Amino acid sequence: MSCLSFGLACGGGDSAGTSEDESAYGGETADDSTTGSDLTSAHAVTGFKALETPVSRVLSQDLTALLPVGASVPARSTVTATRSLSLEGTPAYLVVAEPSMRSLVVKKSDFDAAAAAGTSVFTSTLKEHVQAPLSRVLVADAAQEMAVSIDMCQSSKAWDLALFDWLRQVGRAIGAPVPVAIAMTGGWAKAHGPQLLQLIGWHAAKELDIVWVNHSYTHPLNCNAAKTSCAFLTAPSVDFLAEVTENEKLLLGQGAVPSALFRFPGLVHDSGRRSQLSGLSLFALDADTWLAKGQPTHDGSLILVHGNGNEPPGISKFFSLAEQGHWLDQAKAGKLRFVSPLRTISAAAQ
Ligand SMILES: [Zn+2]
Repeated sequence: MSCLSFGLACGGGDSAGTSEDESAYGGETADDSTTGSDLTSAHAVTGFKALETPVSRVLSQDLTALLPVGASVPARSTVTATRSLSLEGTPAYLVVAEPSMRSLVVKKSDFDAAAAAGTSVFTSTLKEHVQAPLSRVLVADAAQEMAVSIDMCQSSKAWDLALFDWLRQVGRAIGAPVPVAIAMTGGWAKAHGPQLLQLIGWHAAKELDIVWVNHSYTHPLNCNAAKTSCAFLTAPSVDFLAEVTENEKLLLGQGAVPSALFRFPGLVHDSGRRSQLSGLSLFALDADTWLAKGQPTHDGSLILVHGNGNEPPGISKFFSLAEQGHWLDQAKAGKLRFVSPLRTISAAAQ
């Protein structure tokens, strides 16, 4: 690809957002204050449990999902259940559907009626990537491609609405919602209920194609006094299972279906936590293009920015790149594609 196409790494004229003045964790530790929750659940989620062993089925007929509302999975798809739950009193499973790797909630009775599958691409890929976080998307030859991920760590600041508006604008221009990973924390969701519902509304209205990524429930920092080193979820005191499942329950309660992608706070993890995560049927989603840290874009970039007001240099860099690289025009011309972050799983399967 040409560096000019993405507007970066060609040298000259690019002075915004260098990494030298950023902490090692960018916006991850910039603001840990939260306010009380103004969020109420739209859906009753009870009996939520992670399956010790994921179970796969092959659908003999089209399957209509309970969540997202209106979603379905076509016949002959392989689906893998990773969580059991009761949604509004209906026994259900959280499943991952192939080949899209999208997550849905389906009736337990519908799932159980389908034929058993010996294995699935999802589970075999999961086993092969226990210690290998995902950080690249599958790149096609026809156009330059990138995936955008937006971290929403706890924050008392106003969110970066302009970023979401720009992505919606691109979606209108190309006639399809832009896929975007939103790495959500319970802390941000509870403190910014109206904004969370706005995101969910944009997804439902097909203005954004949101892949919900679990960024942990409380997003603990566990930094040393100087904040030069933070353990985040690798601290021994962390209740890792609760950090994962409580956030999933919160999202499902709002009608947002968590994907099989998990973003470790600070992108900090160790072998023990990676093993635990895989045991919960989740992939660690890293990023190779954390803009505020000065990491350059490339074809197949997995971009990381913070949309919670905590990392202005990342947002500035994003808009600077978009302007220099004419991203909107390039997208309209089909020369630049924003691809689903779920393609990190597809890339790993190859
Ligand atoms: Zn974070």
